[in-house]
Amino acid sequence: MSVYAALGVTPIINAKGSSTRVSGGLLSPVVTAAMAEAAGLCVDMADLQAGASRVIARVTGAEAGLATSGAAAGLLLGAAACLTRLDPARMARLPDASGFPNEIIVVRSQRNAYDHAVRAAGARLVEVGLPDRYAGAGIRDAELWEIEAAITPATAAILYVLTPQAEPPLAEVVALAHRHALPVLVDAAAQLPPASNLRALPATGADLVAFSGGKAINGPQGSGILCGRRDLIMSAALQNLDLDLDWKSWNPPANLIDKDRLPGLPAHGIGRSAKIGKETIVGLLTALELFAAEPDDARTARHLHILNQLRQLAPDLAFTLRPGPVPLLALAAANAREALAELQNGKPAIHLDPSALPDGVLRINPTCLRPDDLPILASRLRAVVIPSSEA
Ligand SMILES: *Cc1c(COP(=O)(O)O)cnc(C)c1O
Repeated sequence: MSVYAALGVTPIINAKGSSTRVSGGLLSPVVTAAMAEAAGLCVDMADLQAGASRVIARVTGAEAGLATSGAAAGLLLGAAACLTRLDPARMARLPDASGFPNEIIVVRSQRNAYDHAVRAAGARLVEVGLPDRYAGAGIRDAELWEIEAAITPATAAILYVLTPQAEPPLAEVVALAHRHALPVLVDAAAQLPPASNLRALPATGADLVAFSGGKAINGPQGSGILCGRRDLIMSAALQNLDLDLDWKSWNPPANLIDKDRLPGLPAHGIGRSAKIGKETIVGLLTALELFAAEPDDARTARHLHILNQLRQLAPDLAFTLRPGPVPLLALAAANAREALAELQNGKPAIHLDPSALPDGVLRINPTCLRPDDLPILASRLRAVVIPSSEA
């Protein structure tokens, strides 16, 4: 019996992509083998994170890195690092950040539910700008001068949630922040591919960048990366690791933690709830190396191959190809909403990308489809979808 059957769980056909609700993506056997090997031996977790830092630094070009239990965990740890820097007394007080700089500025149109992680560290978000361009009331969004006007002695950092439409440009926000000696924490959770973003975002000078490991990188579902400035990564690591140790005999790996910069050892920090296991770290790093080594066009060709196979299995359905960092198939349906629900409630459950549902369009994301899924997906789509010409 499969591990899932033993739990009364039936696997789904995932044409939605590596989203959290549908369990992330499919791990390469190379990644699962590395995880199994890691699970069979014990290590010192600080040493393992020091090794992770070296790999992440090499792949991203950042000074240092930390393997995290997700991009949201990276935001929590990154925000904690911006609030406390290397002060163990401040680390001990979080999420109470009263009495030291605790405001993190964010452009109002970049607010989203994931910034809960930043607030959980103890930061108070200070919103700037009016997103008129989204409201249809104008063409403007937040501007640089508005961010600058919000900076006060209570400011600890600037949070930047990267999307292709984010404004003002990241490089300009970084330059402004650095003029005021403030760090910029970037949520780049879903900004891969292109793989070039792994290096391009730290190269903007952004002080901390969080990526999800369970999305495009195709690492373990509960994994992520925080990369950036050495002192801030050190702070994040200190607030994440178990440091219930004797100060005098403590000998941390120097590339991750510079003991000389500390007056003493922090206790379990705010980041303890974002604990990550050894097998997850090893799986993440293995997946990261694979992701960084595969050219974007080779990855795209793999995805197109899956989509083309599906089209051949359902030649009567008028799919259109939607190019993008990940190519998708779009299918206009007269019954899009009902079809999505019927496929999702069928056996096996089939999950499609619902993002174009308001336009009556179903989308197929290839990243988590297995070859065996394709005939079932094709026949279910043909049985359920009522085609529409409104593409
Ligand atoms: C997915 C996502 C996150 C969270 O990433 P996890 O790795 O699942 O923790 C954070 N921010 C944005 C914008 C995301 O899309």
